[in-house]
Amino acid sequence: MPYPITITQTDRKKEKPDSSCLGFGRYFTDHMFVMDYSAEIGWHDPRIVPYAPLALDPAALVLHYGQAIFEGMKAYRTSDDRILLFRPEKNAQRLNLSAARLSMPSIDEELFLEALRTLISLEKDWVPRERGTSLYIRPFMFATEPYLGVRASESYKLVIVLSPVGAYYAGGMKPVKIHVESRYVRAVRGGTGFAKVSGNYAASLKAQEDAHAKGYEQVLWLDAIENKYIEEVGSMNVFFKINGEVWTPPLHGSILGGITRDSVIHLLRDWGIPVREEKLSMEDLYVAYTRGELEEAFGTGTAAVVSPIGVLGWNDHHMVINHEQIGELTAKLYGTLTGIQYGEIADPYGWIVEVE
Ligand SMILES: *Cc1c(COP(=O)(O)O)cnc(C)c1O
Repeated sequence: MPYPITITQTDRKKEKPDSSCLGFGRYFTDHMFVMDYSAEIGWHDPRIVPYAPLALDPAALVLHYGQAIFEGMKAYRTSDDRILLFRPEKNAQRLNLSAARLSMPSIDEELFLEALRTLISLEKDWVPRERGTSLYIRPFMFATEPYLGVRASESYKLVIVLSPVGAYYAGGMKPVKIHVESRYVRAVRGGTGFAKVSGNYAASLKAQEDAHAKGYEQVLWLDAIENKYIEEVGSMNVFFKINGEVWTPPLHGSILGGITRDSVIHLLRDWGIPVREEKLSMEDLYVAYTRGELEEAFGTGTAAVVSPIGVLGWNDHHMVINHEQIGELTAKLYGTLTGIQYGEIADPYGWIVEVE
């Protein structure tokens, strides 16, 4: 075997939660994957061990200067009991993209995939059965060297934990209300917006809280320089169907390249629907709206897959999209992607990887 991942099994397995009350990210499986990095010997000691707290030196660099990145993906159980991953090699590539931005070491993508397969295979019983539920996979990497000088750490940990999660749309898919954020920004070109950096999330919490207090579920981020161009919605990429064409902001450095985004663009082009990866200002979107040309709006990401947008609150404007109903294209994209993910419809794109 090219990568000897050692396995230490727990002798005390947890009771599995009822799949009807899983929620998101509250329960964790019996085991986790851990691997260490040091400047002298590189990545070493890949291992699966019982799920447990990690020991960390109080001077560990991650706690002070924030070298921390993560990934998010899911394993799905099919009705004939196979376990499927969706484009996991993309997560491996993006983990390395994020690592490079924070001066963290890259990992062998094959080893990463092998770690995923081995861990999920061991934890197979934790993949819930109900349609819509899944096993959420959270790989993350952080700086462990005890040192207070400002420089890249010379040691790191890569950890993968698994969490059974409930159906995102347990009460049925419902269009969300979004506050267009004009005060705070999420990311700026040249910064870390294109990478899955933990600090990006810390920086977004305040705007999210303020939007909540105003009765919105999420924020729509505008560009940090002109406060004009649409970037993302919460931690999802965003799409607008305008007059038969679909618009989404281009990946120019401040936007996270979502794997769901890439898959949606693929499907749309396959279906012959024009996709424009072009800058779109809030003013232009508003003009399209007043002309009755804004047909659908939705966010995309691993957690929700597709999330329809029913209302956009922008300054004094209250924009109601598609009568707050789920759009036809939004529904078709959701049905197709989840159908492929749960192995219910054919995958002509080679997106599905089965865990043996
Ligand atoms: C993870 C993430 C997304 C969605 O990416 P997927 O690969 O589709 O899950 C979008 N925006 C931000 C800021 C993210 O962190």
